[in-house]
Amino acid sequence: MHRLNTIDPNTSNVAVPLWGRGLIIALSLAVSLTLSGCQAPIADAALARAQTADLAITNVTLVDAADGARSNYNVLILDDKIISVEPSSTATAPAARQTIDGSGKYLIPGLWDMHVHITYEPELTNAMPELFLSWGITSVRDTGGLLPALLPEVQKWRAANAVAPRIFFSGPLLDGGTVVYNGDAVPEIGTANPTPDSARANIARLQAAGVDFVKTYELVEPDVFKALVSAAREANLPIASHVPLMMTAREAGPLVDSMEHLRNIELDCSADTATLLADRRQKILNPGATPGITLRGGIHADQRPQALASFDVEECSAVIAALRNTIQVPTLRLNTSALYQPFDRSDWRDAIARLPLDSQSRWLTQSETWAKRRPSLPTANGEFSLELVGKLHAAGVPIGAGTDTPIGSALPGYSLHTELERLVEAGLSELDALQAATVQPARFVRKDSTMGLIVEGYIADLVLLERNPLEDIRNTRSINTVISKGRSVWQSSE
Ligand SMILES: [Zn+2]
Repeated sequence: MHRLNTIDPNTSNVAVPLWGRGLIIALSLAVSLTLSGCQAPIADAALARAQTADLAITNVTLVDAADGARSNYNVLILDDKIISVEPSSTATAPAARQTIDGSGKYLIPGLWDMHVHITYEPELTNAMPELFLSWGITSVRDTGGLLPALLPEVQKWRAANAVAPRIFFSGPLLDGGTVVYNGDAVPEIGTANPTPDSARANIARLQAAGVDFVKTYELVEPDVFKALVSAAREANLPIASHVPLMMTAREAGPLVDSMEHLRNIELDCSADTATLLADRRQKILNPGATPGITLRGGIHADQRPQALASFDVEECSAVIAALRNTIQVPTLRLNTSALYQPFDRSDWRDAIARLPLDSQSRWLTQSETWAKRRPSLPTANGEFSLELVGKLHAAGVPIGAGTDTPIGSALPGYSLHTELERLVEAGLSELDALQAATVQPARFVRKDSTMGLIVEGYIADLVLLERNPLEDIRNTRSINTVISKGRSVWQSSE
């Protein structure tokens, strides 16, 4: 059913795919290139003098956020770069070692998942690169994990010849004096910042460890938050954030580059925003023996319904206006999980079957438990999230696509496609949804001059689709070939 080209970076030998089913044939890239290399004759002396491309995709319709759809193009790739993008009618027959006939197909930039935690479920960590790539995710932003677990993985993913998405990582969640993810009832992915000095020391430590950005969390106090922000700015590190509960969204949002899950925006869209803020400040400053996860959960459970019941259009417009330049990563799939059954989809079981064998039954059990619980769960936050994303988008606030994989039953790779569907449901066009998973994440990590579009000189992370994603965003699932770092790493054999 599928073909995965995997290379063991250490030996260059064929690596065994982690998926335990189907007609998966692992070929080394070298073999695959040799087999198809004879299809591309060198056309003329000029081209022969020029460098021969590694890969050509011909007669394909390009779809990217800058130009929408462009029919009948040839795209040439050398090493990990796009070296030519030309209309097929004017292009000389491409000189390439491998040619893919793109007739009737659609080429999009490689997709990003802007919100993942690759070390959160250690049983899945090894399988993540293949899972992401098989679903067309060629870049991920890891938004929280402890460095001792994360750094060796990052090193593996970034090794020469590794078949893995590009990874950008933040290290731990920078929390306050009390830490939500402290390793007691939940995995330890947070770290304490009780004072401005400790905040500055943590940013220095993370910068020295080579993080690509930092992530601030919900129990951080305002003066510590400001110290984190200014230290990150000095270190030239982008900032992802959950709005600290001791601040408002309109106050914290403009200071950061991305906000996750629309978290705590609803608390600022209330006519009682000041009262709610004063109340939760009291709670956080006097935590007693309450663990961070309980403290935060209690505040959400208490204040969310109050905020939604006292929703105020004008307050919310002011909040939205303040967020104009902050990428919102709403994780709609997660926020609306009480509204949908992810496993009702016809391809859910196929997606589960791509997990490592020992994870499959756990995920199935988890799905069944969730199915039973779902009817009793409140849907208001999900409905509010869908509506808010529509409003944010209409107001020109940038939207990014992320899932929280593997948290909340988000299957690595697969769940990003569900997120794209939810974004369209919220009011984004299909092209805007693609932008959320290509241009916006590249912009966040300041790589938008080389990533996220199909342009000469850009990096060659691309996904060839059977069907047009602009007609129906679910067509991003109709993957024919995935190209990562210039190499064809996954192909459907259907
Ligand atoms: Zn997360």
